[in-house]
Amino acid sequence: MSEKTNSSWVKIKNILQEELPKSSFETWFGGLEAKKSPNGKLLLSAPSGFVKRGIEEQYMPMLKNLLKDYGEESSEISIKVEEEREAKEDSSGSSRLIKTPDQDRSKEGSEARESPSNKIPLNKEYTFENFVQSKSNQLAHAASRAVSESPAEAYNPLFIYANVGLGKTHLLHAIGNHLRNKLEGAKIIYTSAERFAIEMIQAIRKNNTEEFRQKYRNVEGFLLDDVHFLENKQGTQEELFHTFNELYGNDKQIVLTSDRPPDELSDLQDRLVSRFRWGLVADIQPPNFETRVAILSTKAKQKGIDVDEEILELIASRVSTNVRALEGALIQVVARADLAGGRIASEEVEDFLPKTSKEEKKLTIDKIKETVANHYNLTVSDLEGPSRKKKIAKTRHIAIYLSRELTESSFPTIGKEFGDRDHSTVMHSHNKISKMIDETPLFYEEIKQLEENLLALSK
Ligand code: ADP
Ligand code: MG
Repeated sequence: MSEKTNSSWVKIKNILQEELPKSSFETWFGGLEAKKSPNGKLLLSAPSGFVKRGIEEQYMPMLKNLLKDYGEESSEISIKVEEEREAKEDSSGSSRLIKTPDQDRSKEGSEARESPSNKIPLNKEYTFENFVQSKSNQLAHAASRAVSESPAEAYNPLFIYANVGLGKTHLLHAIGNHLRNKLEGAKIIYTSAERFAIEMIQAIRKNNTEEFRQKYRNVEGFLLDDVHFLENKQGTQEELFHTFNELYGNDKQIVLTSDRPPDELSDLQDRLVSRFRWGLVADIQPPNFETRVAILSTKAKQKGIDVDEEILELIASRVSTNVRALEGALIQVVARADLAGGRIASEEVEDFLPKTSKEEKKLTIDKIKETVANHYNLTVSDLEGPSRKKKIAKTRHIAIYLSRELTESSFPTIGKEFGDRDHSTVMHSHNKISKMIDETPLFYEEIKQLEENLLALSK
């Protein structure tokens, strides 16, 4: 590889960093290195087969275009995995480019289990430092701190319950972030009950349940989000029961969250429910006004934005039951302020806050377009327009997918809302995203988060 290719690669990496959401950039390109290749090709060295496959599946055309843009004579790229073993697995068999975590083959334990393919990454912003303490979350917060300091000693399991948008996932990630720092190298696994169920079913289908078991039973900490999802899922409950016993018996920390206390999980096996109560059960209540203002102020700081206290108070007075919705309102204020070229007056804020908390709101395609566009730093007209730029096209697919999933609209109606597109084009977008969700756990998490944000807006 020439010096020039090397410097092109540095530039391309800079562009990717600007263009992609931070988490995507770090996942796919953070650990990638450019290596020499005798024949002028760009040779990239990936830290794992998962990253290699992810890039090949999602980013190859874009990378090739960028290489051309930088005047490289060859736009050929090959990606190698650093480890020999991983490289072998890559070429063996599967026609799918991206493997889900449970498909990764290696039996040799820790190395393979620590590969990124086996982890749903933790949100680095969901830390204890960024979590505002208050009366309404006192016990859940203190208990989360305690299990992070003394895993499997303070409370085991810890069971946190609360309505949607009140900070369950935030605390669970905070525990995970803390434990991963504290117990360097130890395996702390975070997953949602939904993901756990999907992986189990895939493992059964592919005949590798043993690996699935090892993955969840060989950990220092098991953080399971939204366990209410397993109601009526007998098979997964059975599996969780055994996972729980094994971990508990070996003094490994278990933390669960749910939208209800254990006793109210009526469609869960009694033996699971009783185990959930062995440790500590803590709830989170909706925050009071002062706490809402404090949360908004923390979020604003975290995002590096400057909003008047008066406006924070106004938002806090209007949005009361759900922190996620609070955050959504803040983001909208900021987006409007940006459009208006700076500060925004409180009368303008009034316009797009719910008039009264009782007022019924329905999720519309407009709202979805706006939220998704904001989330990816694009505009609604990007989504409606003809551009086929990779990032725009993908965001458009996502907005279309969510419009279909979260509203009653038909494909033709959705097509109209997205710049008069044909219904088959819209169906294609929907299929594409469904497939990616199935195949890429990270992407699945990303979409789930968006869905939750949108649902919070319609509450
Ligand atoms: P849940 O999992 O209970 O539905 P999340 O943990 O996803 O809720 O929280 C929704 C949003 O609200 C997240 O952005 C989270 O950071 C924020 N949030 C909730 N409670 C707090 C808090 N006490 N302090 C700071 N942020 C909070
Ligand atoms: Mg959650």
